[in-house]
Amino acid sequence: MFSCPHCAEQGIPALRKSILSPGLLATCESCGKPSGIKYASWLTAMIPGSALMITALFTDSTSVEWTLNIVGFLLVIAVPLLFTPLHKEQH
Ligand SMILES: [Zn+2]
Repeated sequence: MFSCPHCAEQGIPALRKSILSPGLLATCESCGKPSGIKYASWLTAMIPGSALMITALFTDSTSVEWTLNIVGFLLVIAVPLLFTPLHKEQH
């Protein structure tokens, strides 16, 4: 669970935060208020994983391509989850 920016309770499920994107809000289970992530920080969080998956397009080795794709995919999930701050959204 992650802290809600409204009430500071652990009200945001990790699964919910991992699929957050701009415009898709998470609702706090404690206070019911919506929170989301800023477009700029979401975009920044996508860069490391996307860079690896783009690199995979240009490699000739199948094993390297798979490794880059898998690591890139994990980064696309993990980086926003762990490092992108939640901020308050209004209804
Ligand atoms: Zn809350």
